[in-house]
Amino acid sequence: MTTEAVSSLHLQTDLFIGGKFVPSASGKRFTTTNPATAEPIADVAEGDLPDLDQAVAAARQAFESGPWSAMKPRQRGRILMKAAELLLSRADAFGQVETMDNGKPIFEAAKIDMPAAAECLSYFGETADKLYGETHPARPDAMLLTLREPVGVIGAITPWNFPLLQAMWKIAPALALGNTVILKPASATPLTALLFAELLAEAGLPPGAFNVVPGPGAAIGKAMAEHPGIDKISFTGETETGKAILRAAAGTVKRVSMELGGKSPNVVYADADLEAAAKGTINAIFYGKGELCSAGSRLLVEESVHDALMEKVVERAKKMAPGDPLDPKTRLGSLVSEKQRSNVARYVESGKSEGARLVAGGNAASVNGKGAFFEATVFDGVTPQMTIAREEIFGPVLATLTFKGEEEAVAIGNSTIYGLAAAVWSRDIKKALRAARALKSGTVWINAYNFYDPGLPFGGYKQSGFGRERGHHALEEYTQVKSIWVDLT
Ligand code: NAD
Repeated sequence: MTTEAVSSLHLQTDLFIGGKFVPSASGKRFTTTNPATAEPIADVAEGDLPDLDQAVAAARQAFESGPWSAMKPRQRGRILMKAAELLLSRADAFGQVETMDNGKPIFEAAKIDMPAAAECLSYFGETADKLYGETHPARPDAMLLTLREPVGVIGAITPWNFPLLQAMWKIAPALALGNTVILKPASATPLTALLFAELLAEAGLPPGAFNVVPGPGAAIGKAMAEHPGIDKISFTGETETGKAILRAAAGTVKRVSMELGGKSPNVVYADADLEAAAKGTINAIFYGKGELCSAGSRLLVEESVHDALMEKVVERAKKMAPGDPLDPKTRLGSLVSEKQRSNVARYVESGKSEGARLVAGGNAASVNGKGAFFEATVFDGVTPQMTIAREEIFGPVLATLTFKGEEEAVAIGNSTIYGLAAAVWSRDIKKALRAARALKSGTVWINAYNFYDPGLPFGGYKQSGFGRERGHHALEEYTQVKSIWVDLT
């Protein structure tokens, strides 16, 4: 994309606080780069602690004095639905910016992420006035009621892999229920959050209800977790970062929800439709370049169909050539950074040195001589003890293990500290459901992989985190319960 095209999108690069774009107090800026070309895209204002204090003051005021929290819920919902319409109408432009910032294929950014983000907004816009309290018919002498009230100022800290979509899973339910939000996007991908701030204001969101403060996680993110003016942190990112945030949030007994890492098993039984399973396996690991928390990074295949399945998987993987992310035909884009590519390359070396068989890919790649691309990579003959079977690689690298029978499939599937997602492929629905029940993960797909709906909750078991995004469970994350006792005597 040309520089003129970027500037025609009116990229905003200052902090967004109290309804206005403002430079950071320190005047510091950082450069965000297109990983597919190594070219700089924009210099973005780097938030510091005084900027965070300003954002907290703006969000606090918007929450305590209105108009956002005091607005009729249905009116709040209408503003979010208007924002959804605007986002959908600009999906291509937002998608281009996301693709340039992250390296993901434009097909994913413009045709999947942005429409899904808009759908999430309209889903929660519609639910804004549909969160009900209870009455407890416990006593004749009193009426007992519960109310669900917003939590207050929400600090959203998000990763770089689905920059706007992941943020939307937090912003949409939080705002719908009358909370106000401070978003700290990942430093690698801050641009769509800033574009979205402008769009929300255009849709009618009052000043202070939504603020964006890009900046380093170790400074701004940590300060958000510690800040007494923030009532809850909703975090998505690595498990180790999540642990640091939990510690930092302890001082103010802050509410937290955590969407963390994964090492998800994709289990293929011998009675599966192998063509569908092979296609699903490719989608499970290579969608989003494998930089996906729910990536099906462990393929568990029943021994008797191992060869037949692997032939199909390897053939498909070899056809997945990395391509220019802005080309609508590309399905494997650039990794987010050189640093991430080095991490991935290190894991590939560890797979080889620990004795796994490399059967597809395995190398860094470039497109037009540039970029942080990596080939679609498949390892076979992996054992559960190997590093590539245990650790989250966060790149296009599949580890294939074999099993005999249901018990072993589930045992290997569960032999991880994580529990974010899993899939089971089988024509026997009872067997598939037995596995779905036994796998310790927050989502299980049967004969599918990587499908999402704003109404279906998403979140982790074990060290993949706690709390749920999307669906009515998300509404609970952004409200607290008040009990009311009314004396009738
Ligand atoms: P990361 O943990 O490095 O960063 C996430 C965010 O936290 C960024 O905004 C970062 O600046 C901030 N941060 C870093 N250190 C911090 C600190 N000490 N205190 C507060 N904030 C801090 O993660 P990443 O590399 O951006 O993203 C990849 C990770 O995210 C993977 O582990 C992936 O599995 C996970 N992820 C999980 C989900 C999910 O829904 N479970 C979704 C997407 C990504």
